[in-house]
Amino acid sequence: MQVRITVSFPYEAPVSQSLFERASAVTPGGVNSPVRAFRAVGGTPRFMVSGTGPYLTDADGREYVDLVCSWGPMILGHSHPEVIAAVRDAVSRGTSFGTPGAGEVELAEEIVARIEPVEQVRLVSSGTEATMSAIRLARGFTGRPKVVKFAGCYHGHVDALLAAAGSGVATFGLPDTPGVTGAQAGDTIVLPYNDLEAVRTAFAAHPGEIACVITEASPGNMGVVPPLPGFNQGLKDICSDNGALYISDEVMTGFRVSKSGWYGIDGVRPDLMTFGKVMGGGFPAAAFGGRADVMAHLAPAGPVYQAGTLSGNPIATAAGVAQLRLLDDAAYEKVDAVSAELRALVTEALAKEGVAHRLQVAGNMFSVFFTGADVTNYDEAKAQESFRFTAFFHSMLAQGVYLPPSAFESWFVSTAHDTQAVERIAAALPAAARAAAEATE
Ligand code: PLP
Repeated sequence: MQVRITVSFPYEAPVSQSLFERASAVTPGGVNSPVRAFRAVGGTPRFMVSGTGPYLTDADGREYVDLVCSWGPMILGHSHPEVIAAVRDAVSRGTSFGTPGAGEVELAEEIVARIEPVEQVRLVSSGTEATMSAIRLARGFTGRPKVVKFAGCYHGHVDALLAAAGSGVATFGLPDTPGVTGAQAGDTIVLPYNDLEAVRTAFAAHPGEIACVITEASPGNMGVVPPLPGFNQGLKDICSDNGALYISDEVMTGFRVSKSGWYGIDGVRPDLMTFGKVMGGGFPAAAFGGRADVMAHLAPAGPVYQAGTLSGNPIATAAGVAQLRLLDDAAYEKVDAVSAELRALVTEALAKEGVAHRLQVAGNMFSVFFTGADVTNYDEAKAQESFRFTAFFHSMLAQGVYLPPSAFESWFVSTAHDTQAVERIAAALPAAARAAAEATE
């Protein structure tokens, strides 16, 4: 996709540029996950070499205040000393055993203790694996084929869940992905988000066929679009009435928006839940869990197969346990306060320049839509003037603030975002708001 860049770059990034050229020779698009590539905003992706607290340093030696936080996991900031110490300790004892280990038990116990609907949990290595396994389990448990998902929700790159997905699929405006066959996607029913009537209609049209409804607990992959009041409860009720499972994907919100994730905010009890990001402390760890009677269908306890060579890896579980144990009430209060402060600053700067926008919030996650109307679903998200985001993004980058390189992603903050970091963001906002105001398509 060609995107016209509407600001001039005040500086070059020669080392990142040269790394990007090398990367592009050996890796498709030069990156190992599409949205890192800056394609939606143009320019050279910055290759980062280190992170400390709220800051990232790139290969050219420039420091940025980080508002991506590795797309959510780094809720304590980068290189938190206690997480690093736990990792060092774990790595000194070996890196992978292929046997059960104490760290897995500790991480599972942390999750079960925090999230009441999770009676049993299985550890995996990525959010994609978690959602893939959860829908397989739902199908195995119910004996039904169909899955309902919502347009703009992203659940990882699971074949059956890529239809009308958010995140990179939204960023690049991709049609349904080549390589996913009709058979793989044929049992996926995609509905508009926040529309309970559409869900009722789908259940009426497919009686006894729908295994589960999977939804982001509060979507962050089309930008932040929280569920309207009663939406999640409505999904749960429709599922219960029809013998289907309600799967809440908390890969992004889990352990981030509260100690018990979005469940801690809306209290709607899912049958199954999926987790990732924060629970791995920056390492590849994810999980799915929920009702014990459903989880009992998973191998080796039951017939639904699921496995992983590196599942419950000792380094990842050590990092995850250390991070979760540090996330007490005070930590969430801090993250919520930083988020509120930044939101106020962003709104003030954009309003001053007369830029139509909606700043949408889910707990401490937030994003800016460049539109004058509230955004409640994917179509409304896509209707924003994303060329204004491009200008805003590059101005912030040029001033040392690293935002997600897409108008369709949440911004993330951490306990490490202190006054100094917030002041640096505040100083960058007026010029970025002006760039957004002056941007043309
Ligand atoms: N589910 C949600 C809600 C996500 O935000 C993501 C990733 O952003 C995933 C699933 C997939 O997780 P992973 O990238 O670890 O495979």
